[in-house]
Amino acid sequence: MPIEAAPQSPADNPGDPRHPAEAAARARGLAALDRVVTGCRACPRLVEWREETARTKRRAYQDWEYWARPIPGFGPPDAPLVLVGLAPAAHGANRTGRIFTGDPSGDLLYAALYDLGLANRPESVRHGDGLELHGVRITDPVRCAPPDNKPSTAERDTCRPWITRELQLLRPTVRTVVALGGFAWQALLPVIADAGWQVPRPRPAFGHAARVDLPARDGGPDLRLYGCYHVSPRNTNTGRLTTDMLRSLLREAARSAGLSPR
Ligand code: SF4
Repeated sequence: MPIEAAPQSPADNPGDPRHPAEAAARARGLAALDRVVTGCRACPRLVEWREETARTKRRAYQDWEYWARPIPGFGPPDAPLVLVGLAPAAHGANRTGRIFTGDPSGDLLYAALYDLGLANRPESVRHGDGLELHGVRITDPVRCAPPDNKPSTAERDTCRPWITRELQLLRPTVRTVVALGGFAWQALLPVIADAGWQVPRPRPAFGHAARVDLPARDGGPDLRLYGCYHVSPRNTNTGRLTTDMLRSLLREAARSAGLSPR
């Protein structure tokens, strides 16, 4: 008897219509992209983890029906400022279905945005809580919660078409991007190049308050990229990133994007 080959994951075949490279390219607007990404199952290990986490749950969230799917970007489709994190938290966005929602990192980030007048509420608790962002969109280079918050290089690369398409669709308005952490910075550089801006060689290094201006290849507006330490408890509990540092960097980034933060 011939041994049956294991079913291929779409991640193994870039020509598969379910592969992110194909599915993202078909999205004609951000609303479509945000909808389609939630059906992605291209990374077997991450699909398994996001669903396993939803089955076992954390004790405090036993009453929750976890989202357990990829997390789309959040914020207006004409945002001039984009913040980029790492990946959803297993019991945060993977539970609530909205980026940086329901975890300590999000508590800090949304409070800072509220202080600056870029969000209408200081908290992000769940879908339907009324939170709105003003001129800011938040997204991740990896859309599914990874074990230990560590996606593999292959998973990061498989997921790249989603954020690349998002940046392409935001291109008419986006002027500034903030990479929250070194992972976001490294993940973003090829995305920015694919979306139409020139990335210098050697590649610019990540650091808190690092700033690079990237010219558009078609003569359009430049893109300014900032680095910011990630808003994780590891950074905030150790004082590596303080509320003042975060607020100050976001204020500068918002101004450079043409917004008027407080
Ligand atoms: S991490 Fe990205 S590419 Fe992988 S399954 Fe999730 S959405 Fe799809």
